[in-house]
Amino acid sequence: MTTRKKLVAGNWKMNGGLAANAELVRGFLPAVTADVEVSVFAPFPYLAQLQGLLEGTAVAFGSQDVSAKASGAYTGEVSVSMLKEFGVRQVIVGHSERRSYHAESSETVALKAVAALEAGLVPLVCVGETLAEREAGQVESVIASQLDPVIAQCARFVQNGQWPLVIAYEPVWAIGTGVTASPEQAQEVHAMIRARLQAMLGESLAQSTRILYGGSVKPGNAQELFSKQDIDGGLIGGAALSSDDFSGIIRAAKG
Ligand code: PEP
Repeated sequence: MTTRKKLVAGNWKMNGGLAANAELVRGFLPAVTADVEVSVFAPFPYLAQLQGLLEGTAVAFGSQDVSAKASGAYTGEVSVSMLKEFGVRQVIVGHSERRSYHAESSETVALKAVAALEAGLVPLVCVGETLAEREAGQVESVIASQLDPVIAQCARFVQNGQWPLVIAYEPVWAIGTGVTASPEQAQEVHAMIRARLQAMLGESLAQSTRILYGGSVKPGNAQELFSKQDIDGGLIGGAALSSDDFSGIIRAAKG
């Protein structure tokens, strides 16, 4: 059976500033060791700063979105090649805040993931249901509708049963609300995502793909969530803005 290295990814959202970022990074760096992968996702203007702050460390960094287009008349967009010039290795695509506030469809999200993979970047693809969808018993169909276009578009990047793509299961009702999915609720959906990967792309790919949980992860609940069989780390929002909390979550991922 494949061993999947845990990944703890911090999504700073539209927060931060030059001084605060430097303090935050300095605060959590001592918690970073080789046994857990760590990355942080900053607003575009701070990527150059992160390139300097994280040089020589094991911490990767990236952006919270990327354009599916390579270049041209797309005002306000940022391309993969621009990100790469600043040392970016990973990008978040399809965060629920982009899906809801910017009307991003799952097809657009899939094309962004393709753009990232073509450029050699790791896409962290977010999926997750709203509370109304959960209550209506639609978790599986919603996740499938978000995941299937990504699988269809990105299958060609599978090599020897592997792809760099990471999936983040983020139930919308748990993001920034303080309400966390129970480890059992999260595990159930993670297992369902893995089964879907297996059905569409095979056992090896399903076993090697990391599936992160996101939604009000904190130092106090991280260890139990990460101990579940199909939970391979976390995408962390609010708690990634505190070096103490983010350090605690990184330590929790060490088991
Ligand atoms: C997120 O925005 O991806 C997230 C999981 O946020 P929070 O941890 O604050 O719920």
